[in-house]
Parts: sequence; C-alpha cells; structure tokens
Amino acid sequence: MPEAPLPSPEELQKKIQEFMKANFGDQVSVSAFAQQAPSEEPPESHTEAIDPFEFNATPREIKAHLDRYVIQQDAAKKTLSIAICDHYNHVNRIRRLEKEDAEAAKNLEYSKGNVLLLGPTGVGKTYLVKHIADLIGVPFVKADATKFSETGYVGGDVEDLVRDLVQKSDGNVELAQYGIIYIDEIDKIATSNNVGGRDVSGRGVQTTLLKLMEETEVPLRNPMDLQSQLQSAFEFQRRGGKMKKEMINTRHVLFICSGAFDRLKEQVTRRLRQAAIGFSNLSGSKDEAAALWSVTTRDFIDYGFEPEFIGRLPVRVVCEELTADDLYLILKTSEGSIIKQYQRAFESYGIDVQFTDQALSEIANQASLEGTGARGLLTVCDRLFRDFKFELPGSGVRSLEINLELVTKPRETLNRVLQEAYAEAELNQAEMIRQFAAVFCQKYGIRFEIEEPAIKQIVLRARAAGRNVTDFCSSLFKDYPYGLKLLRDRDSQLTFSVPAFALDDPDKYLSERVVEFYRRADKT
Ligand code: ADP
Repeated sequence: MPEAPLPSPEELQKKIQEFMKANFGDQVSVSAFAQQAPSEEPPESHTEAIDPFEFNATPREIKAHLDRYVIQQDAAKKTLSIAICDHYNHVNRIRRLEKEDAEAAKNLEYSKGNVLLLGPTGVGKTYLVKHIADLIGVPFVKADATKFSETGYVGGDVEDLVRDLVQKSDGNVELAQYGIIYIDEIDKIATSNNVGGRDVSGRGVQTTLLKLMEETEVPLRNPMDLQSQLQSAFEFQRRGGKMKKEMINTRHVLFICSGAFDRLKEQVTRRLRQAAIGFSNLSGSKDEAAALWSVTTRDFIDYGFEPEFIGRLPVRVVCEELTADDLYLILKTSEGSIIKQYQRAFESYGIDVQFTDQALSEIANQASLEGTGARGLLTVCDRLFRDFKFELPGSGVRSLEINLELVTKPRETLNRVLQEAYAEAELNQAEMIRQFAAVFCQKYGIRFEIEEPAIKQIVLRARAAGRNVTDFCSSLFKDYPYGLKLLRDRDSQLTFSVPAFALDDPDKYLSERVVEFYRRADKT
C-alpha cells in the first residue's frame, strides 16, 4: 500500500484547530507553527560540540576558587571540590575511551558521586554549587523537591529539570548531558512511617528521581506539552521524515540534593543518646546541629527515604549555621559581597559609598537576628538603604560614609545628609548667581549687583521651578540690557543693585529706576 503523503504544516495546524474547536469550542487555540519561521535552522545546529571537558583542575584549585566567594563551609567546599574533580575527570576519561573503544567505555564501572548537602537555609549551599558550575562551564538548574510532590504530576516535572539543562546550555544537548541538577528541600519528600496521602507522592518522587540519577533517556520535548509536540512533528517533516536525536541521557548529569533536615537532627541525637557512647550529654540545639555529622544511611532510611534513593547520594556533607562574625566576613571579604553591589548601584548616580567596619559589624548583627543565614544580609540592607537609594540620586550628594550612626539611625542620618547637601548646593548656586551678575557687568559695562537676600530668593525660586539658577537669572533679567545701557550712557559710574522685593516684577523695578534717574538728572 503506498504511504499516505504527509500533510503540510498548515494542513496539520488546520486539522488540529478544527479538532480543538469541535471538542473545546473557541476558547482554545493552537499557535505552534507561528513560533518558528521555516527558514530558521533546526535546533540541532546548536549542538555542535563545544568541549568544556578540558577539565584538569585539582580539588585544591577548585576550593581556592570557592574560597574567594564562600565564607566558612570548609568541609562542604573540600567535599564538593573532590566530588567535582572525580566526576569531571571520569567524564573526560569516558569521552576519550568512547572514541577509542566504545565497548570498553560502556563497561567502565563507575558510581556517580552525587552529593547530599545538609544544612539550614541561606548558608551558601546553592551559592557553592552555582560557583562550581560557572567555574567549569556546565549548565546548572535548581528546583525545590516540594514542587514535585505538590503537583501530583510527578514524572513530567522531574524530567523538566533535565530539559531545563538543555535550555540553560542554549540547546546544546551534548553539554546539557554533563550539567548539574540541584534539588533543594529534599528532606520534604521523605515519607513518614504512616502510609497514605502526601507520603505516597513523596515515594513516587523519590522513585522518579532515582531513575534520573541513575541513567535514563529524557525526551527533549515534553510529551504532555502539545505545543512542543507539534513543533517536533513540524521539524520531523522539514527533515523529510528523519528523526534527529531527541533524547537527553542523564548518565553523566551530576545531582546535588540539599535540605535542612531539622527532624533528622533530633532523630540522630536521640539515637546517639540511646547508644550512650559518650553522647549522653547531648542536648541543646548546638549539639543537635552537630548530630548531623554523625548521620548514617540507616538514619536516612528511618527518616523516610528509600534505601535505593539515599544510596544514590553517597557523598554527604554538612553546611554549618553562619554566626554574626561569619556574616561580617561575608560582607567584608567575599568577592560576591552585597556591599559591592550597593557600591556599584550608588556609583551609577555618581555617589561614592564607603562602609566602615563598625557599620558592617552592625549590619551583620542585625542580619543574624533574622535567622535566615546570609539571606538576612539582603533583608537588612534593603530595609536600611531603600530610602537612601530613592533620595540620594540627584540630590547633589557625591559621597557617603556608611558608619555605625547611619546603620543605627538611618532616617535621621539621611535627613542630615540631605540637608548638608542642600546647604552646599545653595552655596554653589549663590556663587553661580554672583557669577551671572559679574558677567552682566562685563558685558554691559555697568556695575550690576544682586543683593544677598535677593540671591537667596533666587536660589529658592529656581529650586521650586526645577530650573538651574543661571537660566533662571537669564529669564528674570532678560529685558535689562536695554534699560541698563540707557543708564550707563548717562552715568558710567552708576551702580545698579537688585533688592529682593524687585524679584516679584524685575521689569517694573527697572523702569521705575530709569524714570527716577531721569527725573533726578533733570532736576540737577
Ligand atoms: P542556601 O544555603 O539556602 O542554598 P544560598 O546559597 O542561596 O543559600 O545563599 C543565599 C545568598 O547568601 C547567596 O547568594 C550568597 O550571596 C549569600 N551567602 C550564603 N552563604 C554564604 C557564604 N557561606 N559565604 C558567602 N556568601 C554566602
């Protein structure tokens, strides 16, 4: 039987539209083909291999790089550096081997060193992973595990993470296959011992993630997304019915999971206490935090993880809570310090901002009270500097020292700074008005002066009108040259002063003075 000819994209779209209309009415429309002009290259042209796998760093070098940004968390920095080197050295090896001996490459045994980071929020877990991904030039995506359990549509969402890697690497599937997937709040998908409801979905997510962590082929296009399926059908046709590689393999994707594991702390503390091997004094939250260092695979299983799942996360490390001193160091020494961001923001308005150590220390203290790790720094700085960011640009302030007084009394300090700026601006403006009068003298050959109270008035009026004082003077005295010339011709020694009251109607004042002058001259 001869094969039926493939419909053209337009015919296909028309058919689908008819189908949609028949089933769902006018509310649903399909616009898949409008997205891509037919002349565009198919996405596979992006997959030309950039080879980021010239990887030859040592763990020490990676840690040194992380040290520039991440304060404390030495154990995590070390452990991650080792895991990353192991992983990407293996990737290099296997890629070389694939070229030489594909069979041997297939059989090369390797257990992926996926990492589990334990620790509270805002202590640098994501920050560490992001810097590592940037350093080695692989794509990095992050998601919260809670997102998966809430939707109910488990498999698809998890696979979206892999597709996001492709997006992050601009469609480069090859590179995406060596990316890093970071899943936060992993503790939230642990099942508790009772069965039912959400726990079931927790187990479901664990199973799906497990497959991904091991090795699976994820379709480049989401099978549940109609639009992307249509796109796929369209490309299939354009390629003359040939399939291109539409799958992403997760064998070499590195998974890093993290969570606070609060309940686990208590659980391990209890176990240690019961074992009573020198831990009988364990109490208090500090010891509970320390308990995470003693966590075993058994503890994770008791906590509600499937043994296979937790077994896929063999590298485990604890990130410590950050103290106020650590937060100070983050502000003072981290290359990614938020302080630098603020300095750049003010610099854009020509304002030079410097922080004193006391101010940094006070900001760190306030931030540590927030209980959100280094994120507290963002909250405190935003609260502290919002008004400054609004009021200082355009105020004439050229520099600002952020000291203890400013941090403890921001509003009062801002008002004072603004007032000082205004006072200084007034002095400058007064000088500009005197300059204006001087130029007038020179130009028209008469002694012309503006009295001090009038100068003050002009400054105020120009500011209210939102104009610069020189322009304001030019329009105030625009009709003066003619009248002053008349006077000068009669008396070259004459001094013409402008008092404050003249500003209400400068022309009237001038003509009155001219008339008066002539009258006096006539009398004499
Ligand atoms: P989490 O541990 O919840 O993943 P993040 O890594 O997202 O926290 O931290 C939030 C922000 O706080 C980071 O982007 C970074 O600017 C800052 N930060 C957190 N911890 C550190 C740290 N140890 N050193 C330097 N900056 C840090």
